[in-house]
Amino acid sequence: MADTPAVTANGYCTNTAPVPGSVRSTNTSSLGSKFARLNNRPYADCPCGRTAIGVTERGNLQRHKPPRE
Ligand SMILES: [Zn+2]
Repeated sequence: MADTPAVTANGYCTNTAPVPGSVRSTNTSSLGSKFARLNNRPYADCPCGRTAIGVTERGNLQRHKPPRE
């Protein structure tokens, strides 16, 4: 399926809608110290393939770049 969101000229994904069901809260000792600073912030996955993106209070994904080279 060609469901990959568009990317801006500077490489950021234009999608802000999380993959349904992917939103979860950080409770994250299990994710390692790398994510400790995101404590208590929800995060979600994007259809572009990027995972663990922070989610705003409005439920939108924070600006991110898709995992492509
Ligand atoms: Zn994305």
